Amino acid sequence: MNIHEYQAKEILNAFGIPIPRGRVALTADQVERAAKEMGGRCVVKAQIYAGGRGKAGGVKLVHHPEQAQTLAKELFGKSLVTPQTGPEGLRVRRILVEEAVDIAREFYLSITLDRGTSRYVLIASAEGGMDIEEVAAKSPEKIQTLNIDPFTGLRPFQARHIALQLGLTGSVCEDCVTLILNLYRVCLEKDCALVEINPLVVTQAGWLMAMDAKITFDDNAIFRHREYPDMMDYSQLDPLEITAGKYDLAYIKLTGSIGCLVNGAGLAMATLDVLKEFGGEPANFLDVGGGATREKVAEAFKIILQDKDVKGIFVNIFGGIMRCDVIAHGIIEAASEVNCTLPIVVRMDGSQVEEGKRLLTESGLNVQCGDNLGDAAGKIVRMLG
Ligand code: ADP
Ligand code: MG
Repeated sequence: MNIHEYQAKEILNAFGIPIPRGRVALTADQVERAAKEMGGRCVVKAQIYAGGRGKAGGVKLVHHPEQAQTLAKELFGKSLVTPQTGPEGLRVRRILVEEAVDIAREFYLSITLDRGTSRYVLIASAEGGMDIEEVAAKSPEKIQTLNIDPFTGLRPFQARHIALQLGLTGSVCEDCVTLILNLYRVCLEKDCALVEINPLVVTQAGWLMAMDAKITFDDNAIFRHREYPDMMDYSQLDPLEITAGKYDLAYIKLTGSIGCLVNGAGLAMATLDVLKEFGGEPANFLDVGGGATREKVAEAFKIILQDKDVKGIFVNIFGGIMRCDVIAHGIIEAASEVNCTLPIVVRMDGSQVEEGKRLLTESGLNVQCGDNLGDAAGKIVRMLG
């Protein structure tokens, strides 16, 4: 789960990490007022669930409150496209107005989960700022990484080593040690999958400050934090993902034309691979999980049909916990309800498979059954051909 920069900064600040003075605004008038509070000269920052805003025109320095208001009018409602958003971009609904800080140096600092070692890894670089991805690709030796032992935690001497490597000395170095240790506390206490400060800056006056912040919470730990669901900004999510979430279904949007209804993440991956092998392009996949009910299958089917890119539907379900006739009923119910005329290919196996297939072939829908995964994938590709 993602949150906005201003929310991430509030959390960092609560853990003792210095951030610029700022105020979040929902209208252009609020932006103007906030800009006045900051003294006129300020930075206007579009809040979207993606980085790379600076280069896309989503972060700008302004000199007067009226200028802030004009810029806010341009930004509100606009979709900002950055290298992290995909081609449609993300719509701006909130703007952070911040004091303009005179920056002397910029650094990159983050802690994230390393799936390889199953541990938190700290990543720091004295070069980077907005171009950290380029540094990582061209000169990875300029990036320091440290695997954190979960039993000992992050030790002050390790944090000091990082701070020294960043080229910091004296009191700023000690401030950085404290900041790094606090950042690790944020990760642990807030159950984060990522905490990133890019850039971490030293100001002209010699203070350390988090100038940008990104936090991703570990979805598996959301139940431990009652406040997290309220922090979510639904305007930043695909409406179909929201509906899928309500029914506890995992929906992932892709770019092709075949909608895929599957049970289980492993089967979903295999389905996408086989479809591709037969020259098909998946438009999405919807995982109904292990023991889905007839209602859940029907809801899933309707969600897939709402995706305008879908030209045909591929159902690949193994009826172990879920019986094939139940799945067939769910498909027929949903398809009839929304008058679906799109080609459907169903590959199912498991308990009550013959009954399931019979129900489908006698349903009057534009449906074919596949004998196995390859056969079914070939069929849907040919039907769309
Ligand atoms: P993004 O990473 O999405 O491009 P940032 O918040 O990192 O957005 O902003 C881009 C750049 O703008 C930063 O690297 C920093 O140099 C500058 N910047 C951001 N906020 C401020 C601020 N309050 N004062 C001065 N400069 C800022
Ligand atoms: Mg940034």
